[in-house]
Amino acid sequence: MSFDEAQRRLAALPSIQVTRNEPLSRHTRFALGGPATLFADTADEATFVEALRLLHSARLPWLVIGLGTNLIVADRGYRGVVLRYTGSQIEATGASIHAQAGATLQSVVDLSTAAGLQGMESLTGIPGNLGAAIYGNAGAYGASLSDLVRRVRYFDGDQIREADHAACQFRYRGSIFKQSRLAGQPWLILSAELYFRPGDPAALQTKAADILATRNRKYPPEMKCAGSIFKNLILAELPAQARAAVPPEVVKGGKVPAAWFLEDVGAKGLTNGGIRVTDYHSNTLYNTGNGTTAQFLELTAELKNRVRARHNFTLEEEVQKVGFDERPPGLDQLESTPFILQYLLTGLTPEELHTRPAEGAPSIAEILAQMAPGHPFALSSLESFLQSRRSLLDSLPEEAEVVVVGGRTPWSARDPLVAPALNLAERAAQDLTHLIQIAEIIRAVKYYPQP
Ligand SMILES: Cc1cc2nc3c(=O)[nH]c(=O)nc-3n(C[C@H](O)[C@H](O)[C@H](O)COP(=O)(O)OP(=O)(O)OC[C@H]3O[C@@H](n4cnc5c(N)ncnc54)[C@H](O)[C@@H]3O)c2cc1C
Repeated sequence: MSFDEAQRRLAALPSIQVTRNEPLSRHTRFALGGPATLFADTADEATFVEALRLLHSARLPWLVIGLGTNLIVADRGYRGVVLRYTGSQIEATGASIHAQAGATLQSVVDLSTAAGLQGMESLTGIPGNLGAAIYGNAGAYGASLSDLVRRVRYFDGDQIREADHAACQFRYRGSIFKQSRLAGQPWLILSAELYFRPGDPAALQTKAADILATRNRKYPPEMKCAGSIFKNLILAELPAQARAAVPPEVVKGGKVPAAWFLEDVGAKGLTNGGIRVTDYHSNTLYNTGNGTTAQFLELTAELKNRVRARHNFTLEEEVQKVGFDERPPGLDQLESTPFILQYLLTGLTPEELHTRPAEGAPSIAEILAQMAPGHPFALSSLESFLQSRRSLLDSLPEEAEVVVVGGRTPWSARDPLVAPALNLAERAAQDLTHLIQIAEIIRAVKYYPQP
């Protein structure tokens, strides 16, 4: 399905807003990131599920987001459909709260403390919605969502199902819902039932207010950030050299704050363009206002390098990256097509032709210039080819006429994505005499690890 068709069909659902080329910087607290090709927003559960069904069949890249407080979006944006669910009803019954996934976590905290339901007061001030908090088993001050969740309703791509606490498979900053997304079959949370112990409302509200005041000093509400950037470490899993370096008093419940290692390598106050590590907490990076995701990535790479060099392990990001590694859908089915076509379909954009993958490393355009001095044909042809391929893949109807290249792969003629690809490959073969070299160079530059 083309993006135009997906836009038309999504917009035909009730109670949904669909926009094209929506800047994701408007929907992330870091205020970073380029546009999503399509952005759809609904507070209606039935529409959310219908939209998910549609996206499953559309074979376009898609992603559900919450309030964007844990996301780092590529500067070039996300070439796919971003869906957001904002259904936010919450209700307290006895010792339980039922809430829809789009409710803010804070609204659930506020209701629970006011109703004398104990267990969530330590989670006050964690930004984002309930669905995302369950997905990532958000937590603070020794408590996490997994302490409270009794049941979760979710959509598995086919049906609405329920998972009890055990089936949620909670772990440190993870759950079965996160696992399912990493496995490529995302289960999307619709609502949840949380279970509490009885408590005194006034005492719970005082505790929550104290924690919120502390948190607001660390993360002022206007700060463009994503909370902690790197995950804390489990002491027992660290290499001996790193374990030996950690003072016993910083270890809490078997975990070592990533901030300890970052501080040890001088992270505080480090700045790259508009991205800066705070002066008071080494695991908090923020956008001073004019930062870019590229600067963020350079700075986090520098921090990881420093920790690796001194402590011999690699820090892992807690934030989630969007727009970096999406593969065009259907690519896996192209294994039997010629490698040139496969590599041309890996998402190279005209801009990437001129991008230097690392400091001191040449861009594809520069390699081409060296390879074929005096032959500007390659660059300009490739640039216009990539541009036309990009717009064509977006706009070609599913039934586009197929030009079968050399009589190959007749099955693929029936495939809505492979058919236009074959047409384009045919054009490319006619237009570009140096296609093989170019494809090889693209592969080398995009896939070979940088030194
Ligand atoms: C200032 C600040 C402080 C923070 N402090 C903490 C903290 O103390 N503890 C902590 O754990 N985190 C903290 N975070 C990180 C962040 O708040 C949490 O990860 C939060 O749960 C993300 O919620 P979100 O709605 O913004 O999700 P997003 O960032 O929009 O998305 C996060 C993930 O959730 C998935 N998701 C969203 N909705 C659903 C759904 N309905 N079903 C399935 N998956 C879904 C998305 O696909 C995405 O992968 C902090 C962030 C900031 C900015």
